Amino acid sequence: MITFYPGPSKVYPQVAQYIQEAFDSGIISANHRSQEFMQMLERTIAGLKSKLAVPDDYEVYFVSSATECWEIIAQSLIIDSSLHVFNGAFGEKWMEYTHKISLRTSEASFDYNENLLLDHSAVFSKNEVICITHNETSNGTKVPDSFLADVRQEFNNVIAVDATSSMAGVALPWENADVWYASVQKCFGLPAGMAVMIVSPRAVEQAEVVGERKHYNSLLFIRDNFLKFQTPYTPNTLGIYLMEKVMQQVTPIEELQIQTLERARNWYAFLAENGYELLVENEEVRSDTVIAVRETKERVAYLKKSAKAAGITIGNGYGKEKETSFRIANFPAIEDSEIRTLMDFLAREAVK
Ligand SMILES: *Cc1c(COP(=O)(O)O)cnc(C)c1O
Repeated sequence: MITFYPGPSKVYPQVAQYIQEAFDSGIISANHRSQEFMQMLERTIAGLKSKLAVPDDYEVYFVSSATECWEIIAQSLIIDSSLHVFNGAFGEKWMEYTHKISLRTSEASFDYNENLLLDHSAVFSKNEVICITHNETSNGTKVPDSFLADVRQEFNNVIAVDATSSMAGVALPWENADVWYASVQKCFGLPAGMAVMIVSPRAVEQAEVVGERKHYNSLLFIRDNFLKFQTPYTPNTLGIYLMEKVMQQVTPIEELQIQTLERARNWYAFLAENGYELLVENEEVRSDTVIAVRETKERVAYLKKSAKAAGITIGNGYGKEKETSFRIANFPAIEDSEIRTLMDFLAREAVK
């Protein structure tokens, strides 16, 4: 079975061997306060920062999921309010979750074919955390880098970005936001159960102003531990081990991105040539890592079933377009031969 599901998604095949190595090395039975663990954590963070070109002064923490990052941000970074800029299900869920914890959330939602604009009146105070979903996995849209650059330039606010389905697949403009996070089961090509949170000095400063230390996952508490290469609770040692290995294996993000962008261009061209309709008409906001195709309900059901029979899993639609779209992950762990297999299948099934 080959899978194009956009999360959990295809794990790098080398991970099978890394799991065996982790077992054989004894690290997964080691105490997480041991020298051995702390050195591994230090190496893993250094390797990740190097391969993903994260600025030196940004800090990296490992937590359990992107969903947990919603909680950490709501508890530890929001002073009085947050503004949520989104066009799909994940951005909306982030807002809803935040609303349960913090006092005031406001919404700047937009249509997924719109070019993004954020007007000044949308921002309520200088303390308001601006929350942006970089790649909306549910509908296959991305936020163009120019938007993040504009927001950075126009507002002094702390900016938090959900990059769950783009981090480690494309190069991110780190300096244009303060908190970046992603679960590892998408572009990282790793098994689910961990997330990466990357924070700027500015975000740390804001967390200190908030001074929140009530939770096991309070940002300041996590930070105190990570500064010593420890973790607040017994961590996902295997997940960290696999992260170290995969970061050693992958090419630097600037190079890796060339492949992602080229594959995305090929996908969009192929789909258009074969008469498939894309969910996102506006080319500027089309995602490079998750491709969403519009179909009738009947065709979606038919295609998923016949793909399955051909040994291929394609992604369900998600959110509003759940039944009227399917999704194709364009994540780095997927091989060219697998892409060709799916393209051959879709070419055969095309309505011409
Ligand atoms: C998958 C996804 C999430 C949720 O990730 P979990 O690991 O389930 O917490 C959040 N945001 C985006 C954009 C996603 O693609």
